[in-house]
Amino acid sequence: MKLRVGFGYDVHQLVENHPFWLGGIQIEHTHGAYGHSDADVLLHVICDALLGAANLRDIGYHFSDKDPKYKGIDSKILLKDVLTLIKEKGYSINNIDSTICLQRPKLNPLIPEMKKCIAEILEIDEDDISIKATTTEKLGFVGREEGISAYATVLIQK
Ligand SMILES: [Zn+2]
Repeated sequence: MKLRVGFGYDVHQLVENHPFWLGGIQIEHTHGAYGHSDADVLLHVICDALLGAANLRDIGYHFSDKDPKYKGIDSKILLKDVLTLIKEKGYSINNIDSTICLQRPKLNPLIPEMKKCIAEILEIDEDDISIKATTTEKLGFVGREEGISAYATVLIQK
C-alpha cells in the first residue's frame, strides 16, 4: 500500500456584516470571512492538503480566483471536485486532522455539524475527520479579529 501525507494552510480576512461560511456550514457572527469564493477556510485547507498529498498542485491552480466562474462559489463544490481529482489518481482518504484559528465566536459547539457535512462530501466516516479550534490568545491578526486561518493534514492511500 502507498501512503501519502498532505498539508494545507489558508487565511481569509474577516469583514463586518458578511456571511460566514466555515466547515461547510453558515455561522452566526458580526463578521464573516471574505474571499473570491465563499471563503470557507476549513474546506480550502482540506482541499489543499488533499491536492498536496496527491501531488496535484494547489486549490488556486485548479480553481483560479481570477475566474468569474468561481466568484462566490460554494466551497463544498470545490471539495467534491478535489475528491474526484484524487480518486482519478487512484487514491482514497485515510484520515484528516485540522485546526481552525479564530478569536471569536467559540467554535466547539459547531464542530459536530462541520464534521458531518465534510464526511458526507468526502464519503468517509465522521471518525476519520478531526477538527480542532483555537484562539491565538488575542495575538496577531487572528487575535485582533482581522482574520481567520486554518491548517490541515491528511493521509491518503492507494
Ligand atoms: Zn481560501
